[in-house]
Amino acid sequence: MSKENLRFNSKAIHGGQEPDKAYGAVMPPIYQTSTYAQSSPGAHKGFEYSRSANPTRTALENSLASIENGKYGLAFASGLAAIDAVMKLLQPGDEVISTNDLYGGSYRLFSKIFEGFGIKFHFVNMENPAVIENYINTNTRLIWVETPTNPMMNIIDIAQVANIAKKHKVLLGVDNTFATPYLQLPLDLGADLVMHSATKYMGGHSDVVMGALVVKDKDLADKLYFIQNASGAVAGPMDCFLVLRGIKTLHVRMQRHCENGAAIAKFLADHPKIEKVYWPGFKSHPNHEIAKKQMKGFGGMISFVTKGNNYQEAIKIVENLKVFTLAESLGGVESLAGHPASMTHASIPKEEREKTGVVDALIRLSVGIEDVEDLIDDLRRAIG
Ligand SMILES: *Cc1c(COP(=O)(O)O)cnc(C)c1O
Repeated sequence: MSKENLRFNSKAIHGGQEPDKAYGAVMPPIYQTSTYAQSSPGAHKGFEYSRSANPTRTALENSLASIENGKYGLAFASGLAAIDAVMKLLQPGDEVISTNDLYGGSYRLFSKIFEGFGIKFHFVNMENPAVIENYINTNTRLIWVETPTNPMMNIIDIAQVANIAKKHKVLLGVDNTFATPYLQLPLDLGADLVMHSATKYMGGHSDVVMGALVVKDKDLADKLYFIQNASGAVAGPMDCFLVLRGIKTLHVRMQRHCENGAAIAKFLADHPKIEKVYWPGFKSHPNHEIAKKQMKGFGGMISFVTKGNNYQEAIKIVENLKVFTLAESLGGVESLAGHPASMTHASIPKEEREKTGVVDALIRLSVGIEDVEDLIDDLRRAIG
């Protein structure tokens, strides 16, 4: 029986994995080596130098390909290094259409690095995918989608964007960091390329920084592999081991993230001091129907705004939390809280960020997998 026909939970554990060839180790060893002995020049066992390939990284890359329903996985030193590799597929004069409510680091990479190399970016609200066609011209090479978006939790219809991309022969890349393949499979919905900050849910334990790409097409995989090796921002073997270990519990973690997220979203929505809760599981969420269609659950990422939109009050709430840790990042087993206006989005001018909904009192939660009653008690006490 091919392991690729297994269901998701089984693939998270077995997909693309074989016992190690040397001694049958069930977990791939951490091959902490830069180079490999050759018996004669060019005669080796498939590995020559660890920038080009390393057995621990290969084991992780096969697992990534399997769980995203792709064929080829590539692991990078960070999520941004993975996006950087995608952008190196392009040439000066090429154009990219990207979601507007974008991870700040991706926005910085696009606008501060690749714009300077002559690539043009259009940042577009894709909640109605038809508007994308207004920005397509003969120079358009790539559509870049993040869904759910950060921190506003907008949902973009991947299948509809994929139809537009196919019609115009443009590549579609999806940043699947927030949803993970447990909740959403962009390649099955027609995307050409999936990207992850494996730092977040894939690793899942806030102990590693890593990025990943997964594709189906051999040609595209070859080009990306060439860039990975030529530019060299590869993931190290220890980190690959940690993320592989994380992936083996992705499904159980995500199930609990979703359950705890739902309970907390409802608690916040019912709280008299809360003005608005952004979570795609609510029927009132403007993109709820798309979320239901393309996602298996609604995840553990929630943003909310207190009544009166008071900056100081929001700061006080995040300072008073005890079980939630005030920190950047997301997707770990522990619950985190962030204040986008003063943290992740502080570099964006107030008027700019408020246009996308990042107001002074917005608080973002990455709901972990602790006892949800403890999380709710913590929020109740901090909100007061
Ligand atoms: C964190 C993050 C990134 C960047 O990944 P790093 O691993 O921090 O480089 C990209 N996209 C999203 C949605 C993220 O949350």
